[in-house]
Amino acid sequence: MKYLDEFRDPAAARVLVEHIKRRATRTWTIMEVCGGQTHSIIRNGIDQLLGGAVEFIHGPGCPVCVTPLEMIDRALEIASRDNVIFCSFGDMLRVPGSTQDLFGVRASGGDVRIVYSPLDATQIAADNPDKDVVFFGVGFETTAPANAMSVVHAQRLGLKNFFLLVSHVLVPPAMTAILSSPTNRVQGFLGAGHVCTVMGTSEYGPLVEKFGVPIVVSGFEPLDLLEGVRQLVDLLEDGKVELRNAYPRAVNDAGNVVAQQVLNDVFVVTDRAWRGIGMIPKSGWTLAPRWAAFDAEKKFGVGHMHVQESADCRSGEVLQGLLKPNECPAFGKSCTPRSPLGATMVSSEGACAAYYQFRRLDLAHV
Ligand code: SF4
Repeated sequence: MKYLDEFRDPAAARVLVEHIKRRATRTWTIMEVCGGQTHSIIRNGIDQLLGGAVEFIHGPGCPVCVTPLEMIDRALEIASRDNVIFCSFGDMLRVPGSTQDLFGVRASGGDVRIVYSPLDATQIAADNPDKDVVFFGVGFETTAPANAMSVVHAQRLGLKNFFLLVSHVLVPPAMTAILSSPTNRVQGFLGAGHVCTVMGTSEYGPLVEKFGVPIVVSGFEPLDLLEGVRQLVDLLEDGKVELRNAYPRAVNDAGNVVAQQVLNDVFVVTDRAWRGIGMIPKSGWTLAPRWAAFDAEKKFGVGHMHVQESADCRSGEVLQGLLKPNECPAFGKSCTPRSPLGATMVSSEGACAAYYQFRRLDLAHV
């Protein structure tokens, strides 16, 4: 496939693998904070190829996985109301809330629709002026600009029946929380390329400086990831603490300035709860006061809903790199993608789902 095959070339991958193995004098512990990278590392067996040179721990990089249970319950509550059309990307429909998921609401007669862009939801609102239309805005800095634009677009159209249920989270505060934890094991980070495409790299320099941990921004294809790891291992072996960009075809220092302007207009930073991790200060976005009329939490009065996570699910430890998915007693037994106990099994970008899809047969023989 043009533009992709060149980043999946086996001969080039072998050169990088050999370099990393030759340079590594010990096992370096590297965290990726991106569900796409987690999926690619496991699907392509990059962790296995590198043997003892690198241990990957899979951080909180899957937006579906870190969306707190209570936010799912708020979505379910709104979607169950009469006169509501609830719109979401498809991956959120199977995420279980306390009692059911959005597919269950749809099966019970709720008007739950899968859309491919938040602007589809504004069109639905324009086509259905007698209904309240809600879009579930989940994700990191990557998906936030389009969601912010949906609110701007709705205002331009004069829509009074479009609302955003906002559950946006930010990567640098999560990295700060991990690095600040007394149980932190991370020696180097692979930076999330798609997040940096929007936000640039400037937020990461202060983290490198404060915590003395190198960060290499990387893409998703096998060669992107291997090049990111190569640069990280070289830095670690040389005792250098630097920020590097190994994804220059998509990322520059400044990022997408136009997208950042929209984000700064529509959202303000707020404290956010992360599923499995808990509250992280200033780690998310919510609608700015001047856009409050589009806030679904306010419109439907669901902000008070709070619930406890299942005590059986250990995704919090998985997300912080303290536990491999297959080390969870429920993995592949009471917890599978068909009946997930936790969100890291629901999304194909979740670490537990990736291990289940690509590793469970190997692990069965261990
Ligand atoms: S295997 Fe299931 S129960 Fe265990 S941590 Fe992963 S999602 Fe949670």
